[in-house]
Amino acid sequence: MRVGVLAMQGAVREHLDALRRCGCEAVTVKRVEQLKDLHGLIIPGGESTTIGELMREYGFFPAIKQAAENGLGIYGTCAGMILLAKEIRDSDQPRLGIMDVVVRRNAFGRQRESFEIDLDIPLLGEHPFRAVFIRAPYIESAGPAVEVLASLGGKIVLAREGRLLASAFHPELTDDLRIHQYFVQMLSAQDTGAIAKRGTPSRSESEHEEERPEVGTA
Ligand code: GLN
Repeated sequence: MRVGVLAMQGAVREHLDALRRCGCEAVTVKRVEQLKDLHGLIIPGGESTTIGELMREYGFFPAIKQAAENGLGIYGTCAGMILLAKEIRDSDQPRLGIMDVVVRRNAFGRQRESFEIDLDIPLLGEHPFRAVFIRAPYIESAGPAVEVLASLGGKIVLAREGRLLASAFHPELTDDLRIHQYFVQMLSAQDTGAIAKRGTPSRSESEHEEERPEVGTA
């Protein structure tokens, strides 16, 4: 399985490592020609306006949209999630606009810029996922084809639409490979995703939570 990590700006190396640990051939993608022969692409976290400007400059918007239509699986983490979204609340910044979600940037408030929390993700089983949030967005609302995979205090933080996956948090900053494995499985299965009913069980924000001031902002 050959998976690229879009390397405009942001947390690229950590995703490459995680993909390699999942047994993938992981490559950095800096030019549109490098999208060829990929099964999947990760758009990392960072600063979505900066990544978006660079993507536009390098011609990535039409190229990735075309590749997605041809079946490329794409996983956006944090800023990557913002770049996938059709609508970004109060912003007209450049984006791919291919996932039927409305996102809100920096949405957890100033007191909660960075934190980590044990997140219940039913599809990964009983064991919660230690999720790292850094100036994270969340999905405010999602279209009918979007499967909500995890919520936090009623806010959607992990979702899938067909071959698109988006998380508000950074799984590449932990040793837990389960979300990367899920993405890789999504690519290999050629499965287009079940459309689940909305309303994934969520856990209240106050449970099992720790502030994580040592994590830098992005
Ligand atoms: N706050 C950033 C943005 O809006 C996203 C932060 C991240 O990717 N960790 O683009």
